[in-house]
Amino acid sequence: MDVLHGIYGLVQSSLGLKAASNETIIHRQKICNMCNKLTESKSKKFKKYLHRCSVCGCFLYAKITIKTEKCPIDKWKPEPKGK
Ligand code: SF4
Repeated sequence: MDVLHGIYGLVQSSLGLKAASNETIIHRQKICNMCNKLTESKSKKFKKYLHRCSVCGCFLYAKITIKTEKCPIDKWKPEPKGK
């Protein structure tokens, strides 16, 4: 189920569906970059795309760009409607 959610998120993100604002993405990225639950990819070429959250297993590159996503431990929330 987590894998399907992750793949679904990557597809949504790639297609620009439910895209969060740049302001939201930057805000979320700063929080995730300081979080001890961040699992960094060892890949040099695709590093940016393969960082994952160790709590939910999501690829962060996709997760932080989808407005309806939320941090599993409430460090950041879905983007408010109408933003
Ligand atoms: S989504 Fe939440 S728990 Fe996961 S890395 Fe980001 S801040 Fe940490």
